[in-house]
Amino acid sequence: MEKKIKAIVLLSGGLDSSLATKIIINQNIELMALNFFTPFCRCNRKKGCNSVAKYFTEKIGIPIRRIFIGEEYFKIIKNPKYGYGKNLNPCIDCRILMLKKAKEIMKNENFSFIVTGEVLDQRPKSQTLKALKIIEKETGLEGLIVRPLSANLLPETIPEKMGWIDRNKLLAIKGKSRKMQIFLADFYGIKDYPCPAGGCLLTDPSFSKRMKNLIELGNVSLKNVELIKIGRYFKLTPTTILIIGRNESENKKILALKEIDDIIIRSEDSKVVAVFKGCINKNIKIFSSSIVARYIKNFDDYKKILIESKYGQEILNVKPIEEIPDKMYV
Ligand code: SF4
Repeated sequence: MEKKIKAIVLLSGGLDSSLATKIIINQNIELMALNFFTPFCRCNRKKGCNSVAKYFTEKIGIPIRRIFIGEEYFKIIKNPKYGYGKNLNPCIDCRILMLKKAKEIMKNENFSFIVTGEVLDQRPKSQTLKALKIIEKETGLEGLIVRPLSANLLPETIPEKMGWIDRNKLLAIKGKSRKMQIFLADFYGIKDYPCPAGGCLLTDPSFSKRMKNLIELGNVSLKNVELIKIGRYFKLTPTTILIIGRNESENKKILALKEIDDIIIRSEDSKVVAVFKGCINKNIKIFSSSIVARYIKNFDDYKKILIESKYGQEILNVKPIEEIPDKMYV
């Protein structure tokens, strides 16, 4: 029996990569899916991309491997060679990193090429013809990335030239419209797709501001990224931040994510819990406590505020701040 050609598909769980998978699998290619995830994925809801990707691969009978990119990812966010998109999303560098990892697996495990769900001109930064070429060049994957949704608008790839896949069965989708993809989803019976055109958290303007602030503080870590996803966030000075939990679950997270140098500021009954990061002095301590006091019921009275650091605990009696300057909200 003739041996099947093997390829890797980058499957996010979104519609485009699911369609790309279907198109290539129908061409008698043996596929393995790689599902990359980073601290910035929005997949922690019940039907996130990860669970959909898993469900999808089980349904069509192909293996899937989840790959986490953590600390390594922070380097590209701090200084992306190809810059940011509209917010703090370093999309070109991000694609390069993921494809380099996919290439390593491709080489080590005898896969012949890589498939992605990229659509020409769907994203202004990372999916222009120029960007797609940069990505191929930087990864050393020239001619080895097949983008089935836009293939007929792109140069012929090696798998097409070799006759492993038929170019006539690939598509020519371009731009932001999702009409064709939604039609194809119906055609292929793909029903559950959580991220029709979504990006990661780094495309979110308010999260990007928090992340930018964390970079300025020189305080980027997996724990801190989890922390800035929650709570009320205040940038008190260029080098100090205060995050206040909005409910019991966020309070618990704050305590669980606390680092050794952090200062916990809380109400006497622990119904309001905050974490302070940065250099503290007496004035900032009173100021932070007065913000925390504002979120305690009956905020016009003086409140007892507990301050805990690695040096011990103290109690302040503070009056809640009447108004927090707008510029401090992030
Ligand atoms: S949106 Fe986020 S995950 Fe997607 S390519 Fe851009 S930086 Fe990477």
